Amino acid sequence: MAEKIFEYIAGAICLDFANTISGARGQTNVSEHLNSYRDLLNWGQQAGLLSAEQAVYLEKKSKEHKIVSNRVLDRARNLRESIYRIFSAVAVQKKPAAPDLAVINNELARGLCQSRIISTPSGFMWGWEEPVRLDSIIAPPARSAADLLASAVPFRVRECANPSCTWLFIDETKNHSRRWCNMRTCGNADKIRRFRSRHRQ
Ligand SMILES: [Zn+2]
Repeated sequence: MAEKIFEYIAGAICLDFANTISGARGQTNVSEHLNSYRDLLNWGQQAGLLSAEQAVYLEKKSKEHKIVSNRVLDRARNLRESIYRIFSAVAVQKKPAAPDLAVINNELARGLCQSRIISTPSGFMWGWEEPVRLDSIIAPPARSAADLLASAVPFRVRECANPSCTWLFIDETKNHSRRWCNMRTCGNADKIRRFRSRHRQ
């Protein structure tokens, strides 16, 4: 089976993580992109958070510890939905719910215990205590969510204006005018809708 190709269009890794579901949450046409622990590894590797060696190591480990890796997948999806609800609220100047912030804080604490700062030829980067653990990949989106909330940027987070899409992104346009997660998909669907309604009138 071909590997799933994930999209990274949001401008922050926590929002890209929230965008691993397509369609409108809570409706029937939702498409889940994190269907297995392997999907989670692919997401992390394509995001540049895991090296190929780490992904191979974790995949082997996940096959030896299926119950644990399934639990990690549940935790990852749970974190993702909390991230989604928090930034979906922030995008419309609402206060995020306390239980969702608690999920971020809990994952942040668990992730920081195993996070390390690593020196590389091109500078420093966040990494993990080796050997990397099955749940290490949960740490970067939790840390990114905390960083984004504590920065001056959270109020530029937007939710896609397409009613059948719940993707989040940071609006980096000068006049704060970005409405779509992706011009090619959601922006284009809107253009077609408006074109058709003009022609019906
Ligand atoms: Zn969209």
